[in-house]
Amino acid sequence: MDLSTKIEDLPKIGRFASSRLKNLKINVAGDLIYHFPFRYEEIGNPKKISELREGDLSSTKGGILEVKNLVTRYRKIITKMLLNDSTGTIEAVWFNQPFLTKTLKVGQKISLAGKVGFFSNRLTFINPEYEILDFKKRPIHTQGFVPIYPETSGLTSKWIRSRIQEILPILLPKIKEFLPLETLKRNNLIAIKNALDQIHQPRDLNEITQARRRIAFEEILLTYLKAFVRKSYLNKKEAASLTIHQEKILSVISQLPFTLTAPQKKVLKEIIYDLSQKRPMNRLLQGDVGSGKTVVAALASYLVFLNGFKTALMAPTEILAIQHYNTFKTVLSPLGVKIELCTATKKPKTEYDILIGTHALIFGETGFEKLAFIVIDEQQRFGVEQRAVLRGKGLSPHVLTMTATPIPRSLALTLYGDLSISIIDTPPPGRYPIKTYFVHPEKRLKAYDFIREKISLGEQAFIICPLVDLSETLKSVKAATHEYERLQNEVFPEFSLGILHGRMKSKEKEETLRNFLTGQKQILVATPIVEVGIDIPGATIMMIEAAERFGLSSLHQLRGRVGRSSKQSYCLLFTENTSEQVKKRLNALVRYNNGLKLAEIDLELRGPGQLYGTEQSGLLDFKIATLSDLPLIAAVRKEAEIIYNLLKKDSLPLLSSKLEDNKLISPD
Ligand code: ADP
Ligand code: MG
Repeated sequence: MDLSTKIEDLPKIGRFASSRLKNLKINVAGDLIYHFPFRYEEIGNPKKISELREGDLSSTKGGILEVKNLVTRYRKIITKMLLNDSTGTIEAVWFNQPFLTKTLKVGQKISLAGKVGFFSNRLTFINPEYEILDFKKRPIHTQGFVPIYPETSGLTSKWIRSRIQEILPILLPKIKEFLPLETLKRNNLIAIKNALDQIHQPRDLNEITQARRRIAFEEILLTYLKAFVRKSYLNKKEAASLTIHQEKILSVISQLPFTLTAPQKKVLKEIIYDLSQKRPMNRLLQGDVGSGKTVVAALASYLVFLNGFKTALMAPTEILAIQHYNTFKTVLSPLGVKIELCTATKKPKTEYDILIGTHALIFGETGFEKLAFIVIDEQQRFGVEQRAVLRGKGLSPHVLTMTATPIPRSLALTLYGDLSISIIDTPPPGRYPIKTYFVHPEKRLKAYDFIREKISLGEQAFIICPLVDLSETLKSVKAATHEYERLQNEVFPEFSLGILHGRMKSKEKEETLRNFLTGQKQILVATPIVEVGIDIPGATIMMIEAAERFGLSSLHQLRGRVGRSSKQSYCLLFTENTSEQVKKRLNALVRYNNGLKLAEIDLELRGPGQLYGTEQSGLLDFKIATLSDLPLIAAVRKEAEIIYNLLKKDSLPLLSSKLEDNKLISPD
């Protein structure tokens, strides 16, 4: 076994699991050990049995004296175990897991973690996590800091933990350090081997901190190096330098159903200037949700059309691609521009001026000869590789990336030295700030009444059911479907409801959205699939269930789906979780309407044990580093310059191949 061993050839990973892992882009063993926990459960050191108290969440270890299955009066099966150490005995019970008696045997040493309560009048571990102690392995599920992984696609954290524990000791000796020793010394970093060991199996908080720091350093460093490489590449490349047909552009602008805002005009100018240059554009267009980025991109691609070149627009989801397709068509079709849609299920005609699609489009054979302009919407959803592939299709096209996920300008500029930034900082006029409420569970019916009232005035509502984990799972689809039926049959029988989730066929999705857009459906029940970009001007209410499960940035994005007309809009946040932490986070949303501010608060409010989310680091393509690593980002800059010079002299072959592995270098 080595780092490139295919996932399906690893021990104890079956067909089901390996296909799920592939969804996470985990294809080989090396990817699995680079799959990091996003937080840790702090269970603490094992206690002596005599120290255990009722209500504790604790861990203990001892020898098994007895295990047996009992059947209760109600025909439920209980597995009971008696455990001892030098200070006493304690029981443990599990419900409906009769197979446990096959694993747990008298005489084994075992470690338990979980809630201690009373059962049949005796102090007992109720449904604890367990692991049989093996002197060759460090316990990882039941004591200390237990890593929690994104439990995507039906693979539990425990399962991921076990698989990683299994392969880590075999793989670690084969991992070579790719950073120069001096770099490690100068920056006080631990070796990659140790970092990987510690991030998955930490002995204490310090080990986690060290590991995170090393990995964050590496991520930031690679980002710098990519930017350096890209910059020198772009400097050597030529793009189509377009003629600015000012009159024609102004005439289209004057025919729009609205007046462009000042920032829209400013960023359009910046983009058009770039397009007129020989050097390929690499520009980030940042603007909060609803600020009107799409029309800017459409106008820029009209200029490309006027010059006889083609544009490709990539959207993160099919729904969004369809929406952009419609927007572009409304603005540009009357001018004779041929626009084609290309998704996984719909192949475009070969004749087009603008091609719009999901990432499926980059794998297609779709005549990219005269491609001069690439627009990437919501770039955080794309891997670097995809961008590189698309870039390589034509002759050094201009690239415009649009995003609503804010990152501080200064950060973007330092990190991506090769990137220019345009910002739309004010929304179109006549919009009211969205009123956001944190709704107590007992007010649920009142909230439904409120929605009913608004709908009878001709307005529309979204009702969002949470995602159970990071990707669409069967479970979250079920939750949404179930809620949809309940709402349609019991709560809003007088209205017509629609449902939208990731498992629907694109035709169905399209139809649902069209029905919602035209007002045939008044309420759309959806998974967070609607988070990014969907534009339904008639919707004024965004109701979010289990809001605590979302990061503030996601909630802000969801909220941005309403407030897109001159009517007052509302966001209603529901949660069953009444902890102070949750209240604080959700109240931030009530108070602030600014995406950047919310991203910062999200960071502040998450403790150090839980912040390594994929969420706020999304835009940066980081797994570990976050905005809170700002000081580190400055420190890495110096190191990156030193290393870049070494790279150019070919003296760091390992690092160099790492850059190529990730397809960081644009094809030349
Ligand atoms: P985002 O920046 O989130 O991608 P969109 O491009 O989807 O925002 O625009 C949101 C809505 O605002 C669309 O319905 C669009 O037609 C409308 N819009 C864009 N620019 C203006 C403007 N200057 N005045 C009024 N409405 C506008
Ligand atoms: Mg958008």
